[in-house]
Amino acid sequence: MKKKIAVLPGDGIGREIASGAAAVLEAAGKRFGHEFEIEYAEIGGAAIDAHGTPLPDSTLELAKNSDAVLLGAVGGPKWDNLPSAQRPERGLLAIRKELGLFANLRPIPSFQKLVQSSPLKPEIAGNVNMLIVRELTGGLYFGKPSERRGENNEVVVDTLQYTRDEIERIVVKAFEFASGRSGRLTSVDKANVLESSRMWREIVNEKAADYPNVTVDHMYVDAAAMKLISSPGQFDVIVTENLFGDILSDEASMITGSLGMLPSASLSESGFGLYEPVHGSAPDIAGQNKANPLAMILSTALMLKYSLNMREEGEAIERAVQSVLNDGYCTSDLQMEGSTVVGTDQMIELVTKRV
Ligand code: ATP
Ligand code: MG
Repeated sequence: MKKKIAVLPGDGIGREIASGAAAVLEAAGKRFGHEFEIEYAEIGGAAIDAHGTPLPDSTLELAKNSDAVLLGAVGGPKWDNLPSAQRPERGLLAIRKELGLFANLRPIPSFQKLVQSSPLKPEIAGNVNMLIVRELTGGLYFGKPSERRGENNEVVVDTLQYTRDEIERIVVKAFEFASGRSGRLTSVDKANVLESSRMWREIVNEKAADYPNVTVDHMYVDAAAMKLISSPGQFDVIVTENLFGDILSDEASMITGSLGMLPSASLSESGFGLYEPVHGSAPDIAGQNKANPLAMILSTALMLKYSLNMREEGEAIERAVQSVLNDGYCTSDLQMEGSTVVGTDQMIELVTKRV
Protein backbone atom coordinates (compact mmCIF):
# COMPACT_ATOMS: atom_id res chain seq x y z
CA MET A 1 0.00 0.00 0.00
CA LYS A 2 1.19 3.47 -0.89
CA LYS A 3 2.34 5.42 2.17
CA LYS A 4 1.42 9.07 2.36
CA ILE A 5 4.02 11.42 3.85
CA ALA A 6 3.35 15.05 4.76
CA VAL A 7 6.42 17.26 4.29
CA LEU A 8 6.33 20.58 6.15
CA PRO A 9 9.50 22.51 5.22
CA GLY A 10 8.79 25.50 7.50
CA ASP A 11 11.31 28.35 7.49
CA GLY A 12 14.98 29.19 6.98
CA ILE A 13 17.13 26.18 6.13
CA GLY A 14 14.02 24.00 6.61
CA ARG A 15 13.12 24.96 3.06
CA GLU A 16 16.48 23.75 1.70
CA ILE A 17 16.77 20.49 3.62
CA ALA A 18 13.16 19.33 3.11
CA SER A 19 14.05 18.53 -0.49
CA GLY A 20 16.73 16.19 0.90
CA ALA A 21 14.07 14.23 2.75
CA ALA A 22 11.95 13.95 -0.36
CA ALA A 23 14.92 12.87 -2.49
CA VAL A 24 16.05 10.09 -0.14
CA LEU A 25 12.48 8.84 0.25
CA GLU A 26 12.18 8.54 -3.49
CA ALA A 27 15.54 6.79 -3.68
CA ALA A 28 14.61 4.34 -0.91
CA GLY A 29 11.28 3.75 -2.62
CA LYS A 30 12.97 2.93 -5.90
CA ARG A 31 15.46 0.58 -4.31
CA PHE A 32 12.95 -1.36 -2.19
CA GLY A 33 9.95 -1.17 -4.51
CA HIS A 34 7.60 1.14 -2.57
CA GLU A 35 5.84 4.23 -3.71
CA PHE A 36 5.55 7.19 -1.38
CA GLU A 37 2.96 9.87 -1.91
CA ILE A 38 4.63 13.09 -0.78
CA GLU A 39 2.51 16.16 -0.12
CA TYR A 40 3.83 19.56 1.00
CA ALA A 41 2.19 22.13 3.32
CA GLU A 42 3.22 25.25 5.21
CA ILE A 43 3.89 25.66 8.92
CA GLY A 44 5.54 28.38 11.02
CA GLY A 45 6.51 31.74 9.53
CA ALA A 46 5.81 30.63 5.96
CA ALA A 47 2.28 29.72 7.04
CA ILE A 48 1.84 33.07 8.79
CA ASP A 49 2.79 34.80 5.53
CA ALA A 50 0.55 32.66 3.36
CA HIS A 51 -2.43 31.99 5.64
CA GLY A 52 -2.14 34.34 8.64
CA THR A 53 -1.57 31.55 11.17
CA PRO A 54 1.44 29.34 12.08
CA LEU A 55 -0.66 26.16 11.87
CA PRO A 56 -3.36 26.40 9.19
CA ASP A 57 -6.25 23.89 9.40
CA SER A 58 -5.27 22.57 5.98
CA THR A 59 -1.79 21.67 7.26
CA LEU A 60 -3.19 19.91 10.31
CA GLU A 61 -5.70 18.01 8.14
CA LEU A 62 -2.93 16.86 5.82
CA ALA A 63 -0.82 15.70 8.79
CA LYS A 64 -3.76 13.76 10.25
CA ASN A 65 -4.46 12.08 6.92
CA SER A 66 -0.85 11.02 6.39
CA ASP A 67 1.08 8.00 7.61
CA ALA A 68 3.84 10.23 9.03
CA VAL A 69 5.06 13.82 9.02
CA LEU A 70 8.48 15.24 8.15
CA LEU A 71 9.18 18.75 9.37
CA GLY A 72 12.10 21.08 8.58
CA ALA A 73 12.32 23.90 11.13
CA VAL A 74 10.32 26.98 12.06
CA GLY A 75 11.06 30.58 13.00
CA GLY A 76 13.28 33.44 11.96
CA PRO A 77 13.99 37.14 12.54
CA LYS A 78 11.19 38.20 10.20
CA TRP A 79 8.58 37.08 12.77
CA ASP A 80 10.46 37.90 16.00
CA ASN A 81 8.37 40.97 16.78
CA LEU A 82 5.03 39.20 16.74
CA PRO A 83 3.35 38.64 20.11
CA SER A 84 4.36 35.25 21.50
CA ALA A 85 0.92 33.70 20.88
CA GLN A 86 1.29 34.35 17.11
CA ARG A 87 4.92 33.30 16.60
CA PRO A 88 6.05 30.57 14.20
CA GLU A 89 7.08 28.36 17.17
CA ARG A 90 3.40 28.20 18.21
CA GLY A 91 2.75 26.19 15.08
CA LEU A 92 5.10 23.51 16.32
CA LEU A 93 3.64 23.40 19.85
CA ALA A 94 0.13 23.26 18.38
CA ILE A 95 0.81 20.42 15.94
CA ARG A 96 2.48 18.35 18.70
CA LYS A 97 -0.54 18.85 20.94
CA GLU A 98 -3.10 18.21 18.17
CA LEU A 99 -1.40 14.99 17.10
CA GLY A 100 -0.92 13.79 20.70
CA LEU A 101 2.86 13.52 20.31
CA PHE A 102 3.82 12.83 23.92
CA ALA A 103 7.14 11.03 23.40
CA ASN A 104 10.16 12.83 21.99
CA LEU A 105 13.11 10.66 21.03
CA ARG A 106 16.61 11.77 20.23
CA PRO A 107 19.18 9.15 19.34
CA ILE A 108 22.72 10.48 19.79
CA PRO A 109 25.33 8.23 18.24
CA SER A 110 28.96 9.20 17.84
CA PHE A 111 30.11 9.61 14.27
CA GLN A 112 33.69 8.32 14.23
CA LYS A 113 34.68 10.68 11.43
CA LEU A 114 33.42 13.67 13.37
CA VAL A 115 34.98 13.25 16.83
CA GLN A 116 37.14 16.32 16.15
CA SER A 117 33.97 18.43 16.00
CA SER A 118 33.20 17.58 19.64
CA PRO A 119 34.17 19.90 22.48
CA LEU A 120 35.01 16.75 24.49
CA LYS A 121 38.15 14.61 24.22
CA PRO A 122 37.93 12.21 21.26
CA GLU A 123 38.14 9.12 23.50
CA ILE A 124 35.10 10.38 25.44
CA ALA A 125 33.09 11.68 22.47
CA GLY A 126 33.82 8.57 20.42
CA ASN A 127 32.17 6.36 22.97
CA VAL A 128 28.65 7.85 22.93
CA ASN A 129 25.55 6.00 21.80
CA MET A 130 22.48 7.07 23.68
CA LEU A 131 18.78 7.62 23.22
CA ILE A 132 16.99 10.37 25.13
CA VAL A 133 13.26 9.86 25.70
CA ARG A 134 11.55 13.08 26.80
CA GLU A 135 7.92 13.58 27.86
CA LEU A 136 6.61 16.28 25.55
CA THR A 137 3.04 17.29 26.37
CA GLY A 138 2.86 17.59 30.17
CA GLY A 139 4.66 19.14 33.11
CA LEU A 140 5.66 22.72 33.68
CA TYR A 141 5.24 23.88 30.06
CA PHE A 142 1.55 22.99 30.02
CA GLY A 143 0.51 23.31 33.71
CA LYS A 144 -2.36 25.61 34.62
CA PRO A 145 -2.37 28.13 36.19
CA SER A 146 0.55 29.92 34.60
CA GLU A 147 0.09 33.57 35.41
CA ARG A 148 1.09 36.79 37.19
CA ARG A 149 -0.67 37.67 40.39
CA GLY A 150 -0.80 40.32 43.06
CA GLU A 151 -1.62 43.99 42.89
CA ASN A 152 1.49 44.82 40.89
CA ASN A 153 1.83 41.43 39.25
CA GLU A 154 4.77 40.83 41.56
CA VAL A 155 3.99 37.14 41.99
CA VAL A 156 4.42 34.63 39.17
CA VAL A 157 3.07 31.10 39.10
CA ASP A 158 3.86 28.16 36.85
CA THR A 159 2.39 24.77 37.64
CA LEU A 160 4.12 21.40 37.35
CA GLN A 161 1.41 18.81 36.89
CA TYR A 162 1.44 15.19 35.73
CA THR A 163 -1.17 12.47 35.88
CA ARG A 164 -0.25 8.85 36.54
CA ASP A 165 -1.34 7.93 32.99
CA GLU A 166 0.90 10.56 31.45
CA ILE A 167 3.92 9.25 33.32
CA GLU A 168 3.10 5.59 32.70
CA ARG A 169 2.85 5.92 28.92
CA ILE A 170 6.23 7.66 28.54
CA VAL A 171 7.93 5.28 30.96
CA VAL A 172 6.55 2.27 29.07
CA LYS A 173 7.77 3.71 25.76
CA ALA A 174 11.24 4.12 27.25
CA PHE A 175 11.29 0.54 28.58
CA GLU A 176 10.29 -0.73 25.16
CA PHE A 177 13.11 1.12 23.47
CA ALA A 178 15.58 0.07 26.17
CA SER A 179 14.71 -3.61 25.79
CA GLY A 180 15.38 -3.33 22.06
CA ARG A 181 18.82 -1.85 22.72
CA SER A 182 21.48 -2.83 25.24
CA GLY A 183 18.91 -2.89 28.05
CA ARG A 184 20.05 -0.07 30.32
CA LEU A 185 17.57 2.62 31.32
CA THR A 186 18.43 5.71 33.35
CA SER A 187 15.43 7.59 34.74
CA VAL A 188 16.21 11.22 35.51
CA ASP A 189 14.23 13.15 38.13
CA LYS A 190 14.53 15.41 41.17
CA ALA A 191 12.88 13.08 43.66
CA ASN A 192 14.71 14.63 46.61
CA VAL A 193 12.67 17.82 46.09
CA LEU A 194 9.66 17.34 43.80
CA GLU A 195 6.48 15.37 44.46
CA SER A 196 6.01 14.81 40.72
CA SER A 197 9.46 13.20 40.64
CA ARG A 198 8.57 10.91 43.53
CA MET A 199 5.58 9.58 41.62
CA TRP A 200 7.75 9.32 38.50
CA ARG A 201 10.25 7.16 40.39
CA GLU A 202 7.50 4.93 41.84
CA ILE A 203 6.09 4.30 38.38
CA VAL A 204 9.50 3.51 36.88
CA ASN A 205 10.06 0.94 39.65
CA GLU A 206 6.61 -0.61 39.10
CA LYS A 207 7.08 -0.92 35.35
CA ALA A 208 10.58 -2.37 35.79
CA ALA A 209 8.94 -5.62 36.90
CA ASP A 210 7.50 -6.05 33.37
CA TYR A 211 10.94 -5.71 31.74
CA PRO A 212 13.32 -8.09 33.53
CA ASN A 213 15.85 -7.73 30.70
CA VAL A 214 16.25 -3.99 31.39
CA THR A 215 18.56 -2.69 34.14
CA VAL A 216 17.19 0.48 35.68
CA ASP A 217 18.89 3.21 37.61
CA HIS A 218 17.67 6.57 38.90
CA MET A 219 19.64 9.78 38.72
CA TYR A 220 18.96 13.32 39.89
CA VAL A 221 18.85 15.81 37.06
CA ASP A 222 21.77 17.88 38.37
CA ALA A 223 23.96 14.77 38.54
CA ALA A 224 22.81 13.72 35.07
CA ALA A 225 23.83 17.12 33.67
CA MET A 226 27.36 16.54 34.99
CA LYS A 227 27.61 12.91 33.87
CA LEU A 228 26.58 13.84 30.33
CA ILE A 229 29.83 15.76 30.08
CA SER A 230 32.17 13.67 32.25
CA SER A 231 31.12 10.20 31.08
CA PRO A 232 28.43 10.30 28.40
CA GLY A 233 29.40 6.78 27.31
CA GLN A 234 27.76 5.33 30.43
CA PHE A 235 24.25 6.13 29.16
CA ASP A 236 22.10 3.95 26.95
CA VAL A 237 18.45 5.09 27.22
CA ILE A 238 17.55 8.13 29.34
CA VAL A 239 13.91 8.84 30.21
CA THR A 240 12.78 12.08 31.78
CA GLU A 241 10.00 14.66 32.07
CA ASN A 242 9.45 17.63 29.78
CA LEU A 243 11.54 20.45 31.29
CA PHE A 244 14.49 18.25 32.31
CA GLY A 245 14.37 16.56 28.92
CA ASP A 246 14.39 19.87 27.08
CA ILE A 247 17.56 20.96 28.82
CA LEU A 248 19.38 17.63 28.90
CA SER A 249 18.63 16.83 25.27
CA ASP A 250 20.08 20.14 24.10
CA GLU A 251 23.12 19.55 26.30
CA ALA A 252 23.54 16.05 24.90
CA SER A 253 23.18 17.23 21.30
CA MET A 254 26.37 19.25 21.73
CA ILE A 255 28.46 16.30 22.90
CA THR A 256 29.13 14.96 19.45
CA GLY A 257 29.66 18.46 18.06
CA SER A 258 27.44 17.75 15.15
CA LEU A 259 24.10 19.47 15.67
CA GLY A 260 23.57 19.29 11.91
CA MET A 261 23.57 15.48 12.13
CA LEU A 262 20.96 14.79 14.77
CA PRO A 263 17.41 13.61 14.02
CA SER A 264 14.42 13.40 16.33
CA ALA A 265 11.08 11.62 16.48
CA SER A 266 7.91 12.63 18.31
CA LEU A 267 5.44 9.78 18.72
CA SER A 268 1.80 9.39 19.70
CA GLU A 269 0.24 6.45 21.51
CA SER A 270 -0.63 4.74 18.22
CA GLY A 271 2.97 5.06 16.98
CA PHE A 272 2.12 7.89 14.59
CA GLY A 273 5.11 10.21 14.38
CA LEU A 274 6.47 13.58 13.42
CA TYR A 275 10.15 13.58 12.47
CA GLU A 276 12.39 16.63 12.44
CA PRO A 277 16.03 17.60 12.83
CA VAL A 278 17.16 18.66 16.31
CA HIS A 279 18.55 21.95 14.99
CA GLY A 280 16.50 25.07 14.27
CA SER A 281 15.95 27.16 11.17
CA ALA A 282 19.50 28.64 11.26
CA PRO A 283 18.59 32.03 9.76
CA ASP A 284 22.29 32.99 9.71
CA ILE A 285 23.01 30.54 6.89
CA ALA A 286 19.57 30.22 5.25
CA GLY A 287 19.46 30.47 1.46
CA GLN A 288 23.22 30.00 1.05
CA ASN A 289 23.32 26.30 0.16
CA LYS A 290 25.42 25.75 3.31
CA ALA A 291 22.98 23.88 5.56
CA ASN A 292 23.82 20.33 6.52
CA PRO A 293 20.87 18.22 5.31
CA LEU A 294 21.94 15.07 7.17
CA ALA A 295 19.84 15.63 10.32
CA MET A 296 16.77 15.90 8.08
CA ILE A 297 17.83 12.86 6.07
CA LEU A 298 18.46 10.83 9.24
CA SER A 299 15.03 11.95 10.52
CA THR A 300 13.58 10.38 7.39
CA ALA A 301 15.44 7.16 8.24
CA LEU A 302 13.94 7.20 11.75
CA MET A 303 10.49 7.68 10.26
CA LEU A 304 10.89 4.59 8.11
CA LYS A 305 12.07 2.56 11.12
CA TYR A 306 9.69 3.77 13.83
CA SER A 307 6.44 4.64 12.05
CA LEU A 308 6.36 2.80 8.73
CA ASN A 309 7.78 -0.55 9.78
CA MET A 310 10.54 -0.28 7.17
CA ARG A 311 13.65 -1.04 9.19
CA GLU A 312 15.76 -2.22 6.30
CA GLU A 313 14.91 0.88 4.29
CA GLY A 314 15.81 3.18 7.19
CA GLU A 315 19.09 1.39 7.75
CA ALA A 316 19.97 1.71 4.07
CA ILE A 317 19.71 5.49 4.44
CA GLU A 318 21.83 5.47 7.61
CA ARG A 319 24.48 3.41 5.83
CA ALA A 320 24.43 5.79 2.86
CA VAL A 321 25.10 8.73 5.22
CA GLN A 322 27.98 6.83 6.92
CA SER A 323 29.49 5.98 3.57
CA VAL A 324 29.43 9.61 2.37
CA LEU A 325 31.18 10.69 5.60
CA ASN A 326 33.68 7.85 5.35
CA ASP A 327 34.58 9.03 1.87
CA GLY A 328 35.49 12.39 3.37
CA TYR A 329 32.56 14.55 2.30
CA CYS A 330 31.04 17.01 4.74
CA THR A 331 29.24 20.35 4.94
CA SER A 332 30.94 23.47 6.32
CA ASP A 333 29.48 23.08 9.85
CA LEU A 334 31.56 19.92 10.41
CA GLN A 335 35.26 19.53 11.10
CA MET A 336 36.83 16.59 9.38
CA GLU A 337 40.49 16.18 8.60
CA GLY A 338 41.28 16.11 4.87
CA SER A 339 37.63 16.49 3.98
CA THR A 340 35.92 17.82 0.88
CA VAL A 341 33.38 20.48 1.88
CA VAL A 342 30.22 20.35 -0.21
CA GLY A 343 26.99 22.38 -0.30
CA THR A 344 23.48 21.29 0.71
CA ASP A 345 22.44 20.22 -2.80
CA GLN A 346 25.54 18.19 -3.42
CA MET A 347 25.31 16.44 -0.04
CA ILE A 348 21.70 15.48 -0.79
CA GLU A 349 22.77 14.12 -4.15
CA LEU A 350 25.69 12.14 -2.68
CA VAL A 351 23.41 10.43 -0.16
CA THR A 352 20.54 9.69 -2.55
CA LYS A 353 22.93 8.09 -5.04
CA ARG A 354 24.17 5.69 -2.34
CA VAL A 355 20.77 4.69 -1.01
P1 ATP B 1 15.85 27.31 17.42
O1 ATP B 1 15.43 28.30 18.42
O2 ATP B 1 14.94 27.20 16.25
O3 ATP B 1 16.26 26.00 18.02
P2 ATP B 1 18.56 28.22 17.48
O4 ATP B 1 18.94 29.61 17.18
O5 ATP B 1 18.54 27.71 18.87
O6 ATP B 1 17.17 27.93 16.76
P3 ATP B 1 19.73 26.77 15.26
O7 ATP B 1 18.82 27.42 14.30
O8 ATP B 1 19.71 25.31 15.32
O9 ATP B 1 19.55 27.23 16.73
O10 ATP B 1 21.21 27.28 14.95
C1 ATP B 1 22.29 27.26 15.87
C2 ATP B 1 23.61 27.39 15.11
O11 ATP B 1 23.90 26.16 14.45
C3 ATP B 1 23.58 28.43 14.01
O12 ATP B 1 24.80 29.10 13.92
C4 ATP B 1 23.32 27.64 12.76
O13 ATP B 1 23.83 28.23 11.61
C5 ATP B 1 23.98 26.31 13.06
N1 ATP B 1 23.22 25.22 12.41
C6 ATP B 1 22.06 24.70 12.84
N2 ATP B 1 21.63 23.74 12.02
C7 ATP B 1 22.54 23.63 11.04
C8 ATP B 1 22.67 22.80 9.88
N3 ATP B 1 21.74 21.87 9.57
N4 ATP B 1 23.73 22.98 9.09
C9 ATP B 1 24.67 23.89 9.39
N5 ATP B 1 24.62 24.70 10.46
C10 ATP B 1 23.57 24.57 11.29
MG1 MG C 1 17.25 26.16 20.03
